[in-house]
Amino acid sequence: MRPKLKNKDGYFKSFISRLITLTEHLMFLLPAMMTLAACKSGVTNFSGDNSFQFLEKQCSFGPRNPGSEGYKSCRNYLIETLDNFADTVFTQPFQVTVDKDTFDLVNIIGRFQQESNHHTLLGAHWDTRPWADRDLNPELRQDPILGANDGASGVAVLLELARLFHESPPPIAVTIIFFDGEDLGKEGDPKSYAMGSSYFADNLPFSTPENGIILDMVGDIDLNISIERNSYRQNSELVKALWKQAETLRLPAFKNWLGYAVYDDHVPLWEKAQIPAVDIIDFEYPNRSVNFWHTHQDVPANCSPRSLWQVGTLLTHYIYNLETND
Ligand SMILES: [Zn+2]
Repeated sequence: MRPKLKNKDGYFKSFISRLITLTEHLMFLLPAMMTLAACKSGVTNFSGDNSFQFLEKQCSFGPRNPGSEGYKSCRNYLIETLDNFADTVFTQPFQVTVDKDTFDLVNIIGRFQQESNHHTLLGAHWDTRPWADRDLNPELRQDPILGANDGASGVAVLLELARLFHESPPPIAVTIIFFDGEDLGKEGDPKSYAMGSSYFADNLPFSTPENGIILDMVGDIDLNISIERNSYRQNSELVKALWKQAETLRLPAFKNWLGYAVYDDHVPLWEKAQIPAVDIIDFEYPNRSVNFWHTHQDVPANCSPRSLWQVGTLLTHYIYNLETND
């Protein structure tokens, strides 16, 4: 059956409605195009899947508590992998004594674009806790944890970032550092934690970076990152900039309210070296009523590529959109 011819008025209405639809489409498209135009190359390429593979690879070595076999294998793997990406890589060896046991520890450091006048530091601890002291089963509390989230997750995001920085150099100098000896501490004694960042802050191998961002426990499958209180005290401007960026990017993990105060690697950086550092951490793993932190449930199955992607996407946008004004 042939369609009936519409009268002129019908054509006009149809034309107007098409015009409105087109305008609506453009209104959606324009902001998207402007956002894309404002982003520089490399920004949109952070891969949660690649990052998750870096997490699984670290866990494949087993627990990475200082002195263990997994620790030694993972140390070599991290040095080799970072060396594939960074302009220069070096290590910072040091010793600590815990309960009369002395450990040889090592911070692993990779640098990008170090000739730039502006310099930021991105860090995560790579060691894992020697004891599952929060496990529900008392018989397993002396065994080391796998540390998929508490250990591997922050490093996994930074390795994927390092890969991007290799492909597309950042606009400022970036140092990526994998701290050792973060998790050898005794509960109730905060200063027995964060040994690697403490040693680094006391023995800076280069001039003081302008600021720093620490990642810890960022792989939680149910990721909720409120603002850590020491971070806000140490560098409220950077906190506001990051959380605003997360809002613009619509990354749902980032919650715009104050959460816990955590003694993590960012605290010695500020207290000992005056590096105003912030900590991106989800301390409720997986949520307020269940706890996998320092237990044998800290495994890859309780982490997700999507969570790593959210944190990595925020950092890529933050770094690549920094203006240098050199
Ligand atoms: Zn821990």
